[in-house]
Amino acid sequence: MYCPSCHDEFIDSITICSDCNITLVENIALNEPLENINWVKVKELPGKVFGEMMGEVLNSAEIPYFLKSDWSASAYNVAPTGLVGSYVQVYVPENFHDKANKLLTDLMD
Ligand SMILES: [Zn+2]
Repeated sequence: MYCPSCHDEFIDSITICSDCNITLVENIALNEPLENINWVKVKELPGKVFGEMMGEVLNSAEIPYFLKSDWSASAYNVAPTGLVGSYVQVYVPENFHDKANKLLTDLMD
């Protein structure tokens, strides 16, 4: 597993980069070296559950992606209900943006 942000390599059981707080990607799903990929934001979602849902859709469409959250920022403002105010941003490689955007927009409607 690789971090799309800092490019560190992790063992398979690790799913989140401890430095960047984002989900790791499997390099095997990518056709070009990770550092050549231009990641773009597709959607910003109102919570982790939405992010995981989107992730499953992108997975089944074989689109590489990672999720970036604001958990660390929200830790300073923890609401009684937990994750209120938190969001998840979905990133995909630039060349997958249109396809991913259509899939996720359909899902939200
Ligand atoms: Zn990282």
